[in-house]
Amino acid sequence: RSKPLIVANWKMNMTLQEAREFFSGLTDAPYEHCEAVICPPAPLLYPLKELMQQAGISLGAQNLHEKPKGAHTGEVHGELLFELGCSHVIIGHSERRAAGETDEQVAAKVHQAIGNSMIPIVCVGETQLQRELGLTKEVIRTQVESALAGVTEERSPFIIAYEPVWAIGTGKTAQPSDAQDIHREIRQMLAEKKSIGFANRVPILYGGSVSASNIQELCAREDIDGALVGGASLQAHSFEAILKAL
Ligand code: 13P
Repeated sequence: RSKPLIVANWKMNMTLQEAREFFSGLTDAPYEHCEAVICPPAPLLYPLKELMQQAGISLGAQNLHEKPKGAHTGEVHGELLFELGCSHVIIGHSERRAAGETDEQVAAKVHQAIGNSMIPIVCVGETQLQRELGLTKEVIRTQVESALAGVTEERSPFIIAYEPVWAIGTGKTAQPSDAQDIHREIRQMLAEKKSIGFANRVPILYGGSVSASNIQELCAREDIDGALVGGASLQAHSFEAILKAL
């Protein structure tokens, strides 16, 4: 089993100055026991590239457009993100899905990410209502299978982040055993749609109120390969506490 992967999703937070302060606040980089990625807002990607390299942290984007470069005002294409140094890109976050991003767009974005040599991190997860209605597996299956439509080659890199929507920013983390059950289901879906080899290679991250106090217990589970962290990634000390807990 490879090192756990911790991905920080800064969402629409941080100024350039705050981000610089974040990096001066890191005391223990580089981190030995895990692989770390930070996904800042797009305008901060280039200014932070060097600081990220010095800290041994990889650079990721929070989104990309579903088409190659062209007349799409305000959007950012994958080729540019790769040129700016992104190795990873988050796709289909629930906050974007809530704003209208569809499964078809997610698949097209996965295709763009892979085509531009970046690793797509596809977010899936049920809302509170879907959970109450017993639709969790169905919702996740649809999201996983449609995202896989963007993966044309068996050896393409791919990461899934299971983020139950009710656990995001609420302080309510899924029970590690419940998360493990869903992660196993997801791996099975990957095996059915692609192959067992593909399924075993894909890291499945957990996201939703992850902090230094629950990261160890989560990552101890067989099918939890790391985490996608929102709130706790915004402060150098709380982010570093997660990395050091591993
Ligand atoms: P929180 O860690 O703030 O719950 O956010 C999770 C998330 O949405 C990461 O993408």
